[in-house]
Amino acid sequence: MTSCCSRPETDINLLHDELENLRRENNELKRHVQESREWFIEIFKASPGLIAITRIQDGNILFINQLSADLHGIEREKLIGSSTVKLGLWADPLQRDAVIRKIRDEGKAHNCEVDFVDRDGKIRNILFSANPVTFNGESCLISVAVDISIHKRTVAALRESEERFLLINNTINESREYLNQILNCIGDSIFVKDENHEIVLVNDAYCRFSGQKRDEIIGTNGLEGVPEDVVKTIMDDDERVFETGNEGEEEGVLSDWQGRERNIMTKKSLFTDNNGKKQLILVSRDITEYKKLEAQFLQAQKMEAIGILAGGVAHDFNNLLNVINGYSELALQDLDQGSHIRKNLEQIHYAGERAAALTSQLLAFGRKQILRPKVVDLNRVITQMGSMLRRLIGEDIQFAVRTSRDLGQIHADPVKIQQIIMNLVVNARDAMPRGGELAIKTVNIDFSEEDVKLSSLRKPGPYVMLAISDSGVGMDVETQSHIFEPFFTTKEMGKGTGLGLATVYGIVKQSNGFIWVYSEPGQGTTFKIYFPRLEDDALNAGGKDKEAAVKKGTETILLVEDEEGVRTLASRILSDLGYSVIEAGDGFEALRLTEEYPDEIQLLITDVVMPGMSGSGLVSKLEEIRPGLKTLYISGYTDDAIVHHGIQDSNRAFLEKPFSVYQLTSKVREVLTS
Ligand code: ADP
Ligand code: MG
Repeated sequence: MTSCCSRPETDINLLHDELENLRRENNELKRHVQESREWFIEIFKASPGLIAITRIQDGNILFINQLSADLHGIEREKLIGSSTVKLGLWADPLQRDAVIRKIRDEGKAHNCEVDFVDRDGKIRNILFSANPVTFNGESCLISVAVDISIHKRTVAALRESEERFLLINNTINESREYLNQILNCIGDSIFVKDENHEIVLVNDAYCRFSGQKRDEIIGTNGLEGVPEDVVKTIMDDDERVFETGNEGEEEGVLSDWQGRERNIMTKKSLFTDNNGKKQLILVSRDITEYKKLEAQFLQAQKMEAIGILAGGVAHDFNNLLNVINGYSELALQDLDQGSHIRKNLEQIHYAGERAAALTSQLLAFGRKQILRPKVVDLNRVITQMGSMLRRLIGEDIQFAVRTSRDLGQIHADPVKIQQIIMNLVVNARDAMPRGGELAIKTVNIDFSEEDVKLSSLRKPGPYVMLAISDSGVGMDVETQSHIFEPFFTTKEMGKGTGLGLATVYGIVKQSNGFIWVYSEPGQGTTFKIYFPRLEDDALNAGGKDKEAAVKKGTETILLVEDEEGVRTLASRILSDLGYSVIEAGDGFEALRLTEEYPDEIQLLITDVVMPGMSGSGLVSKLEEIRPGLKTLYISGYTDDAIVHHGIQDSNRAFLEKPFSVYQLTSKVREVLTS
């Protein structure tokens, strides 16, 4: 009973306790829920993302954070209960429909990129994900999103700047290519040095001149092998431009890759970039040919001036001598044979006559003497002088006369022509004290406009050439530049007057002709004089010239000539006619080029006298590698004189310099078809 009676009491107590426990637990739970709620609210507030909870059924917003409200510029209270669709927050309806479809089909959406309209009506790029949740017992979606507009803009800007960079890079590359092409088209050497005097850029012309590849030049000062004093002068001048910025021009002599001395004019200009870095731009021009022409011109001018002076003095002097000689003759007539005064007077008269002879030579040089020109057959003059000349030159010298049979006539004073021949023959004799060979030759020759370009001394037209060659001592360039000056002689006192060639020069000029000398020390000398040929022949020859000049060819020709002007001209003439021309400046280069050339070479045209290896030396070497190669020799000497230069085989084809276009092309054709 006790137990029965005590039981309900215990039960109530227990229940009470349990209720108490439940209440406590409930309070605890409530607190937890409240705390979680606060947490979530804080998380939503602090979140850098946009957070919203929407009901799946109608898309209405049940919760949204402040950041989202700020983005759209709509108060949170107004957003809640409405939907993004109703509020027109989607920028692109197609995007909106696609997202809604995805959520409907898959129940969620992850990492979707969509566009929303912000408070200013601007488009915002949003990256968002939505997951299903239950909220207040309803099926909802919680979406979390980030505004990636700035990121997107940055990426786009980056891409654009990358594209622009590529474009600029392309433009720079293109400009560089363009500039390179221009630089390489220019015949002058162009190069750029930095402040350490090291080359940072060169064009093709520079590489050709130095015979080096571009990467062998870059980084050097470009002055390898140049004498020390020249290097110093160049460097000092470069430094001056670097320091003062005063641009300048410098002229000097430099060797090209073959060791040939060239006159070089270099223009220097300073370039300073935006960072203040300085570079020297240098443009070098090879002015060797220009210098030669200038020297020729100055020489002609000098001769002209001396001529005027000598002619003028001689003229007055001649009148005085006339008086002296005339009166001494008159006085002599009045004096007895045995008279003491007569002996003295005879000496005066004799000296006066010699002075008159000298003056007449000076007059000839000054082109002041009276000429009695006639139509002259040069061959006849030479034949008439034959025996006299033989006597003059003596027996140690072999004498050959080769006159052209159809030689045209000239208009000149025959006595003066004799004087020219005499003077030249005497000089040739004097140049061969131990004997040798002397040849006189005549031939018709025609100069076209093209031929004339090579020399400032000729005019186009028909000519008769008189050539006098010897195998004597020859002359160096310095001597050659003075020989026509009156009183220039290398002969010992009493032997030479130095008036022989001056007289020749004067007569030739006065007869409208030209004189040309070709000589090398130890190799003999050839003088060539061109007199204008009389018209009838001119017409015939002109016609012949034109017909023959068009003979074309396709063969390959190796052209070896150390005189650049002649080589360039011959090469151009032949290339224009269709021949392939390999040019070489000397025998060694010719051998190298032949070895490198894979195809057949039909003809060798070579100068006879060249530094290093002679023409005939080259021929015998080439015959070993290229048997059957045809040869045409060219030389400033006449063919009679070249026996001395090792060309023993007189059957070899030979062409005299200077040659006309017609002479070269017809000779080449003749040799090729022989
Ligand atoms: P000259 O004979 O009185 O010396 P020229 O005017 O005839 O005077 O010649 C001038 C100079 O030209 C000579 O002294 C000589 O040096 C040089 N010369 C002329 N002809 C020849 C030649 N055929 N060979 C070498 N030197 C020559
Ligand atoms: Mg002389």
